[in-house]
Amino acid sequence: MSEKPRLLLHICCAPDATSVFERLKGRFQVTGFFYNPQIEPKEEYDKRLSEAFKVAEVMGFDLMRGEYDLDRWMQAVRGLETEPEKGKRCEVCYGFRLEKTARVASEKGFDYFTSTLSVSPHKSFDWLRQMGLQLSAKYGVGFLAEDFKKHDGFKRSLEWSEKLNLYRQDYCGCSPSLTHRQDIIAEQEESFQEFSKELRGCRKCEEFLDPAVVFEGGANRPVMIVGQAPGRHELASLRPFSGPAGRKLWFWFADLGYEESYIRANAYITAIAKCYPGLGPNGSDDAVPSSQQRRNCMPWLEAEFEYARPKLLILIGSIAAKTILGKEASMKLVGELITKRIWNRKVTVIVLPHPSGLNRWPQMKRNKPKFEKGLGLLKVGLDSLL
Ligand code: SF4
Ligand code: SF4
Repeated sequence: MSEKPRLLLHICCAPDATSVFERLKGRFQVTGFFYNPQIEPKEEYDKRLSEAFKVAEVMGFDLMRGEYDLDRWMQAVRGLETEPEKGKRCEVCYGFRLEKTARVASEKGFDYFTSTLSVSPHKSFDWLRQMGLQLSAKYGVGFLAEDFKKHDGFKRSLEWSEKLNLYRQDYCGCSPSLTHRQDIIAEQEESFQEFSKELRGCRKCEEFLDPAVVFEGGANRPVMIVGQAPGRHELASLRPFSGPAGRKLWFWFADLGYEESYIRANAYITAIAKCYPGLGPNGSDDAVPSSQQRRNCMPWLEAEFEYARPKLLILIGSIAAKTILGKEASMKLVGELITKRIWNRKVTVIVLPHPSGLNRWPQMKRNKPKFEKGLGLLKVGLDSLL
């Protein structure tokens, strides 16, 4: 049986390497080449590199690493720093990385070279093909001109990323792309401040004498915590989970290694109904919001979710679980890791019992292992996001 040709695959990031390697492994002996000296800051570069090594190990291919020669890359793009993404700077950046790949492929006797850059729907395959063919002629190595986004290549990379729990960057890599991302985040935060003023002024549920609207957070929070409704303590402090139930909740987080202040600074915390629904039937402070109140508040919750863009959604109590996951949802979901599309966003969902109702949770003794499993899942989720 003839040996498969050797191919040097330029890897721009770990997620994109997955679907490309999967597609090529039957036809080529693939060696990965991580060469992305434009990535800043260095910690981000190291993170992406170590994810690439993780993919290589799990999927079973060799991975070479190019130098982190940021200065040379900066010289190459000098004067193009303010170019928009997909503009001239990106064209030079592609060529810079692809030329190095072609040169290494030639020096090391590979038959072909190519790049994972075409996986992204934001990346131009025409540029890659033209550059690849020119470099192929210059270095005497074949260029595999394949557009890896075709046939669901990008979708497949998302599936692999989820399966391997890979880090997915939220900017392309270079310093100008990071600045651009930060500008977008600042704009989103500004827009959130406007939205939050509007929400605080909501008087849709006319029956409330004191409709203080309780929530806490900002735009782009990777974790979102949704409870039932504020109680009297929350009404006074205007901070969710600031009463006795909150104290229990923060104990749970502290046991997992996360302080309340840290979670408050990094998560979006809200409730199904954001105004105090009054005392419960026995004078308790955890009255269930009426269905009308829940209906009125639902569009706000959806908007909060849009701003927060969470990856992990923590639902506290059965009212939160039922309102978001559907009527059938119950405390049986405690201890399960749920992946679901909610308001057009795929999120991981963890359901926990409401701290104030823990003692009333039927057969708490029997449910304790489920509860502990739920906290374990929560820790894994928090560790990967915060
Ligand atoms: S935006 Fe991406 S492709 Fe463009 S120059 Fe920066 S790192 Fe390179
Ligand atoms: S509960 Fe929601 S919808 Fe009703 S007044 Fe408060 S914020 Fe508005």
